Amino acid sequence: MKYDLIIIGGGPAGMTAGIYAGRLGLKTLLITKSFGGQIAKKAVSIENYPGFESISGIELVQKMEEHLKKQKINIEMGEVRKVEKRNKDFLVSTKSKKEFQAKAVILTSGADPRPLEVPGEKEFIGRGLSYCSVCDGPIFKNKVVAIIGGGNAGFETAIFLAKIVKKIYILEYTSKIGADEINQEIVKKTSKAEIITGAALKEIKGKDFVNSITYEDLKTKKIKTLKIKGIFVEIGSQPATSYVNGLVDFNERDEIKVEFETCQTKTPGLFAAGDLNVGLFKQIVTAAGEGAKAALAAYNYVQNK
Ligand SMILES: Cc1cc2nc3c(=O)[nH]c(=O)nc-3n(C[C@H](O)[C@H](O)[C@H](O)COP(=O)(O)OP(=O)(O)OC[C@H]3O[C@@H](n4cnc5c(N)ncnc54)[C@H](O)[C@@H]3O)c2cc1C
Repeated sequence: MKYDLIIIGGGPAGMTAGIYAGRLGLKTLLITKSFGGQIAKKAVSIENYPGFESISGIELVQKMEEHLKKQKINIEMGEVRKVEKRNKDFLVSTKSKKEFQAKAVILTSGADPRPLEVPGEKEFIGRGLSYCSVCDGPIFKNKVVAIIGGGNAGFETAIFLAKIVKKIYILEYTSKIGADEINQEIVKKTSKAEIITGAALKEIKGKDFVNSITYEDLKTKKIKTLKIKGIFVEIGSQPATSYVNGLVDFNERDEIKVEFETCQTKTPGLFAAGDLNVGLFKQIVTAAGEGAKAALAAYNYVQNK
């Protein structure tokens, strides 16, 4: 079957695009690895999405997913590996070797956590090293853990983990903490966190599970060791766009260039909405807004094709 539209990704941008496409009557397929994207990893409540003064990430995802699933669109759980142009249409292939064809495509695959790129990272993923405190935090009950990254994400993770773990080290590479004052205040009140600035992580060590990390104290140039059982990575994210080479242009941060008016990429009929494009402000509401914009633009494109 040929679709009018394929949406790749099930975060706020993809779910909003799906709701709009369904209501516009486009024959639509949404392909995603998971629902909710980064919101599902949110450790403390969301307080800046209109209509909800305070809502947990999991609850907001559930509400968006329920709304999406009321639309007459098809959903395929899977990972997209390639998007190609076939004559006038697009061919989208998944990891499980399925192929789907559509007149237009909206990319909304968002962003993945930025890796640490230090020895031990790959070996200890799932064995003490985590990129998602909401998912893995409870495993570390009464243990000592480290959070790498002193921005808002790192501090929000500390706020969440303080209810579970015994002690938290927050390691920040620069000499200044970037998290908002309010988050810093809350973390201070928990009295479980020790903040170490000017710390360059060097290695993650252990046997079957993580048992320590080493870092360079950038002031003294000394290598120091911390005995820990868990490590949470909160050093930002990178666009999840590796499957779409050739059809789009990227900026220096590997974000997809789009037209402001429509979210269209350099390829007619191919749109990119949410955290994976060049938009400066990566938020749930901006991702949802761009999902809506891209779906409306895709509708116009399909009508005029
Ligand atoms: C810890 C944290 C806290 C945050 N707190 C807030 C907050 O309080 N308020 C706020 O407004 N924003 C917050 N954000 C930012 C917000 O979550 C993002 O801006 C938003 O989720 C971006 O939405 P998106 O749909 O573009 O991408 P994502 O949320 O990244 O979703 C991408 C989706 O695409 C899927 N996907 C990826 N690759 C593929 C593929 N190859 N094939 C198929 N599917 C794929 C993923 O499974 C996922 O479902 C936070 C982010 C983080 C990490």
